[in-house]
Amino acid sequence: MTEAVGARGGRRVRLVWVYPDLLSTYGDRGNLLVLTRRASLRDIEVEAVEVNADEAVPDDGDIYLLGGGEDLPQILAATRLRADGGLARAAERGAVVFAVCAGYQLLGREFGGVDGERLPGLSILDVTSGRGDRRGVGEIVADVDPVLGVPRLTGFENHQGVTKIGQGARPLARVTLGVGNGDGTEGAYAGKVLGTYLHGPALARNPGLADLLLGWAAGPLQPLPGVSEEWARQLRAERLASATPIS
Ligand code: GLN
Repeated sequence: MTEAVGARGGRRVRLVWVYPDLLSTYGDRGNLLVLTRRASLRDIEVEAVEVNADEAVPDDGDIYLLGGGEDLPQILAATRLRADGGLARAAERGAVVFAVCAGYQLLGREFGGVDGERLPGLSILDVTSGRGDRRGVGEIVADVDPVLGVPRLTGFENHQGVTKIGQGARPLARVTLGVGNGDGTEGAYAGKVLGTYLHGPALARNPGLADLLLGWAAGPLQPLPGVSEEWARQLRAERLASATPIS
């Protein structure tokens, strides 16, 4: 893997926050802040670019972030991203893509519109979404594919969509509480493209996932000192305790 070298001679990552004007529900912008912070703590230089829906998506970023959105902004975002082509080119080139909820659905082959109509996605990730019978709303807990070495996920979900994973992708995790994809799995990944239904923001609640993405883009990472992890540790402990199913 080639690692980008910054002006100070160290490592550098270029983060691209895709369509914050359309896709950014439940504080998903926090994912950008967490990646920026965790990179800076390791002296990795960060350039963060926010690209609105009337702008071209640069295809030379290292990590692309997409958030959740209501149905109509999601449909508009998918239409524009398909026409723009920058995100698909970046993914093709091996850039990291991390997408949440509406962003996750639109990376796939198709997703459900307002009345359940089948709408084309970007086909960057081999998943197919449609509208489910009921909304998945509430806390979600899921155990990550052990291959990825990421601790149990905690998050918040609010979506009507259900998602089926095709041959070309793997489930990100197995749900122990909540809905996720709707079949007992949660999220999906293939190569360096990863989608999830988790808000929270996902990377604030799951720093292990943040480091997985950062490591994919910047190479091996040193663990952070305990003091830098304390807030995330407390947040995880509190959220996981609150999400324990009542038996
Ligand atoms: N509109 C999509 C759904 O309801 C995504 C919602 C979201 O991003 N929170 O499934």
